[in-house]
Amino acid sequence: MHVLITGGAGYIGSHTAKILSRAGSRAIVLDNLKRGHRDAVRWGPLVEADIADRSALKEIFEKYPIDAVIHFAAFAYVGESMQAPELYFQNNVVNSLSLLESMRAAGVRKIVFSSSCATYGYPTEIPIREEHAQQPVNPYGESKLMVERLLHWYGQIHGLAWVALRYFNAAGADPDGELGENHDPETHLIPRTILAALGRVPCLQIFGTDYDTPDGTAIRDYLHVTDLGEAHLAALKYLDSGGASTPFNLGTGSGHSVREVAAAVERVAGRDLPYEELPRRSGDPASLIADASKARRVLEWIPRHSSLDEIVRTSWNWLAKSAQVPAASGADQDTKEAGSE
Ligand code: UDP
Repeated sequence: MHVLITGGAGYIGSHTAKILSRAGSRAIVLDNLKRGHRDAVRWGPLVEADIADRSALKEIFEKYPIDAVIHFAAFAYVGESMQAPELYFQNNVVNSLSLLESMRAAGVRKIVFSSSCATYGYPTEIPIREEHAQQPVNPYGESKLMVERLLHWYGQIHGLAWVALRYFNAAGADPDGELGENHDPETHLIPRTILAALGRVPCLQIFGTDYDTPDGTAIRDYLHVTDLGEAHLAALKYLDSGGASTPFNLGTGSGHSVREVAAAVERVAGRDLPYEELPRRSGDPASLIADASKARRVLEWIPRHSSLDEIVRTSWNWLAKSAQVPAASGADQDTKEAGSE
């Protein structure tokens, strides 16, 4: 299979490109490298262009017999989307529409889309099923939902076959140590906790200790990025065998609190972590846990690397050997959602 991976120089896209190429597919990466990393593209050609560049897309589709597109390319900072929504509607929505038009012109009829649990907004039921109401509470989540709606109508009217994968919290790094998380700024809990243990940020900041959870800190469903990549492969196979267009939640189905994450990092570090307790980050729900039984059942997908210890160990290995990672500091940092691509 020839697969075009938009945003394939990013965190989840690069891990997925590796998994696809290991499985015998040809992974062609399209990335404008605004937020992706050239050295993360090692398992196929890189085309340095924007998803909205119609002539670049035309060339790719003429050059390679692309069977399907996996569409990761997007901005994924919730905080930024609350400051500059236009960036998110332009880059995530308008440019995705342009990509769909390029695909339509070339007769490419299958797409796997990186969606997010941010499309649900504040959950009214935990675990969250795919049928849960989608009421995003920020432009990032809204932009992902808008693309899901584009896919729906392109499916109805133009016969596009699609899968929307709604990620919960992507975490961890390639078990072989070849790839990892490289965000700038880094705002995610697990890398920031490890950076605190490595002494690269002063301490772990715990945002909120008064949630209605067993230890008072917020709970998230952390999924290893390798398991996430494997789900994309399963989704491609599903579409290839004629599966109906539909969304799937991707998570483990169980959650960990901020304090549990800190304890897991302390186990790997072999010592206590410095931390400070701060007020809640605005817009953070107490608990986000996926009901991912549909993906397990229909895609026959099983997360194999997502124990908290394996997530922390692989992420630690990556961060310990990587160059100084720029890290945001202070309680007013960007909130970053699950599913940063
Ligand atoms: N969090 C924290 N300290 C940090 C970063 C995050 O306490 O330095 C909390 C955050 O408030 C949330 C959870 O950890 O409850 C996961 O945050 P992350 O940004 O990793 O993912 P999100 O769920 O926001 O997408």
